[in-house]
Amino acid sequence: MNLLYRSTRSSAEAVTASQAILKGLADDGGLYVPESLPKLDKSLAELSEMTYQETAYEVMKLFLTDFTQEELRDCINKAYDGKFDTEVIAPLVEADGNWYLELFHGATIAFKDMALSILPHLLITSAKKNNVKNEIVILTATSGDTGKAALAGFADVEGTKIIVFYPKHGVSPIQEKQMVTQKGGNTFVVGIKGNFDDAQTGVKQMFGDRELAKQMDSAGFQFSSANSINIGRLVPQVVYYVYSYARLLKEGKISDGEKINVTVPTGNFGNILAAYFAKNMGVPIAKLICASNENKVLYDFFETGVYDRNREFVLTSSPSMDILISSNLERLIYITAGADADKNAELMRRLSSEGKYEITAGMRDKMSDFYGNYASEQETAAAIKALYEKTGYVMDTHTAVAAAVCNKYKKETNDSTKTIIASTASPFKFTRSVMNAIDAKYDKMGDFELVDELSRLSGVKVPNAIEEIRTAPVLHDTVCDKEDMKSVVMRFLGI
Ligand SMILES: *Cc1c(COP(=O)(O)O)cnc(C)c1O
Repeated sequence: MNLLYRSTRSSAEAVTASQAILKGLADDGGLYVPESLPKLDKSLAELSEMTYQETAYEVMKLFLTDFTQEELRDCINKAYDGKFDTEVIAPLVEADGNWYLELFHGATIAFKDMALSILPHLLITSAKKNNVKNEIVILTATSGDTGKAALAGFADVEGTKIIVFYPKHGVSPIQEKQMVTQKGGNTFVVGIKGNFDDAQTGVKQMFGDRELAKQMDSAGFQFSSANSINIGRLVPQVVYYVYSYARLLKEGKISDGEKINVTVPTGNFGNILAAYFAKNMGVPIAKLICASNENKVLYDFFETGVYDRNREFVLTSSPSMDILISSNLERLIYITAGADADKNAELMRRLSSEGKYEITAGMRDKMSDFYGNYASEQETAAAIKALYEKTGYVMDTHTAVAAAVCNKYKKETNDSTKTIIASTASPFKFTRSVMNAIDAKYDKMGDFELVDELSRLSGVKVPNAIEEIRTAPVLHDTVCDKEDMKSVVMRFLGI
């Protein structure tokens, strides 16, 4: 069966998976969604005998139905290889009664690697399948982690260029260092004077700029997106929810069919949406616990049915979740509106004109699988310290938001369902915040001194991604006003 994809904003013609991957965003500004969510065609018991790569094939083949078996296996094998520092790719670690699903064992030690290791290969394959002759220019706005993971994924991939915009003062020092030291003749990194939403808005405008598209085409270029709106990002993220359930089953930690909860530290709503897809494919998941930091738009949304971005933007110690417009939520809105593109488009128009919208009671009912809450900066730090003191396990600030929210949920509901917490970054990526949470005395130490101290404290070897940047030279130093993003892109491309 051939699964097609439709835009969330109009009933324009459906496209194939490879076309959706190539385009990123639909022409009408909507996001691509599969016409229906496929069901797993292997039992969980069968899946529990499979490697990560085999599981990835079983899940992704159901979404990317116009890829041949050989094409898809080739993409998977190129993505999930020695770039990861563990053969299991996504290990589960038990601590204080929960399982931490460590999604940070790839090249840049954050969960974005899970999808961005494979996206370049899906994209190149999609281009070939659709006879695209232009060079593909990846344009990305990042709140920190996507940028580096996309740069690492695309660096020196033939037939591509990648341009990354990040908020100059909105990412951690280590995140910034990771990006500005990126090698590869096809990579460009730009700091903008603005926040992540400004960067994202600027990128979206360029994607929608017909005039620019024409100029690019005559120069032999076309844009594509590596942002989490690309279906080629979302689909690979479904894999680890299937895989982690199957692993728990294999290890006898749960019984076949036993429901588990999943807690996800959320920003753009991509990771938790992947868990929702996994649930709808047949993974026994009960609650999807959506954890926010002090930018708690999503918590308010699940509480009231009103999405309202009109509020102060807070810079927190979990910068990858400092987001007021969660782009991927649009897919859930569309699905719960009964795949009604007009209704969704109307809500999105409200969001862009008034900064808010309200969903119907019927739609809220269909979202009852979700539970939203948030953790303050203080609660986040306290969660890191408490888990470390109790178990010796050190988690990063994003994961800590999830852990804190998971505890709130348990207290509030007395639900004792076993829980997986998506662990989205290595603590080594946010060393200063993590160490300060454990003890304020660490604030006096230098960045790399802290890295060594964290290694000693946690008994975890310093990851390669950190070792590398200790001495790496800065290769990118462009900074621009948010209004000048387009001219910077044109200069890079020589048009
Ligand atoms: C991107 C990111 C998140 C948020 O994930 P979304 O899919 O955008 O909701 C959480 N934690 C870390 C470390 C991230 O990099």
